[in-house]
Amino acid sequence: MSRVLIIGAGGVSSVVVKKCAMLPQYFSEIYLASRTVSKCEKLQQEAGKDRVKEVFAVDADNVPELVALINKVKPALVINVALPYQDLTIMDACLETGVHYLDTANYEPKEVAKFEYSWQWAYQDKFKQAGLMALLGSGFDPGVTNVFTAYAAKHYFDEIHYLDIVDCNGGDHGQAFATNFNPEINIREITQRGRFWENGEWKETDPISVREDLDYHGIGKRASYLLFHEELESLVKHFPTLKRARFWMTFGDAYLTHLRVLEGIGMTSIEPVEFQGQQIVPLEFLKAVLPDPGSLAEGYTGQTCIGTYITGVKDGQEKTIFIWNNCEHAICHEEVGAQAVSYTTGVPAMIGASLMLDGNWMQPGVWNMEQFDPDPFMERLNQYGLPWQVIECDSPFSK
Ligand code: NDP
Repeated sequence: MSRVLIIGAGGVSSVVVKKCAMLPQYFSEIYLASRTVSKCEKLQQEAGKDRVKEVFAVDADNVPELVALINKVKPALVINVALPYQDLTIMDACLETGVHYLDTANYEPKEVAKFEYSWQWAYQDKFKQAGLMALLGSGFDPGVTNVFTAYAAKHYFDEIHYLDIVDCNGGDHGQAFATNFNPEINIREITQRGRFWENGEWKETDPISVREDLDYHGIGKRASYLLFHEELESLVKHFPTLKRARFWMTFGDAYLTHLRVLEGIGMTSIEPVEFQGQQIVPLEFLKAVLPDPGSLAEGYTGQTCIGTYITGVKDGQEKTIFIWNNCEHAICHEEVGAQAVSYTTGVPAMIGASLMLDGNWMQPGVWNMEQFDPDPFMERLNQYGLPWQVIECDSPFSK
């Protein structure tokens, strides 16, 4: 049985739903639930009622509501593409109903921006004992970047030493300021302090303060800034030979200027403030007035380039490889009506789910992506819309 329940009906979900709908060999029946049922109905219409059998309203913060829904649908797997705040309640509901789980982002409590796996790793024994699997972070970064690292370690090196994940969106959506995925999560991520792994410890930097100008395949030179990104935590745990692991993301000057102004006036804060007798969180309000990332797809030009530089040793020789994918916004729009950031997240979620359901990656417990054989995942990236390339090259980074 390969019935899936997808929770969340935003930008990423729109890709997951449509890609799953194209592949009945992995996903025999699709059910969709989210907070706003009209968004589910729209997606059901677009993907076809023969493939998305039924849609539901659900509050995924509420475990009994989730349990009732899962018992009604009886899926083999829940694909969580709601927000990181819902990870633990959905995992609890999966445990209670005996259903496998997959997500694309680590759990976050609303009150603090932490970006760490501790809460979800604590579910390891419960999932193992229940004979259930939870696959964490099956998006692009985290997700594909973890698999790229595992692929490099398996096929190109005896030991890996230096890892630099680089994420460039070289596209133009024509808006003054917009984020490419959920604005609240995106802004929480980039306004936190920078962090990277070096010689066995985490080192901190001020937010968006360390810059390298990197040359991206198909795009050209772009200013790239060091950020903490959650996959670094699991990658340094699972590849203890890493001496240094960092993450870089490109931002344009106009984006950074808007962000600095918004930060300067307190609009990115997650501390509630009182407004006309009500408590409101400035960042939640900001999200409400920014463009919906799902709506950016039409007319979005250019492409993304996301990849991993890895330096290590093979047969006593040091070398560096770069593995990456380029993804065109316009091609994603033509295929599924989405922009490339939703697409590069949604396709890996579908692939991770397919590998669980067909048994390739099925194993009880809570797992990060790099803990499985990367080969079938890499094959499916080529097959289902995210072809990758690999080259041996000089590292653009100094040691
Ligand atoms: P959106 O904001 O577009 O969509 C989120 C969806 O979840 C919305 O439909 C929203 O409902 C729904 N939702 C929120 N709260 C609840 C709730 N309590 N109960 C039920 N449904 C709820 O986000 P994105 O599609 O951009 O992102 C989805 C996920 O993907 C996020 O976790 C994000 O961090 C992750 N992501 C991962 C990436 C990766 O590479 N690994 C990259 C990009 C994103 P409503 O419509 O009512 O608001």
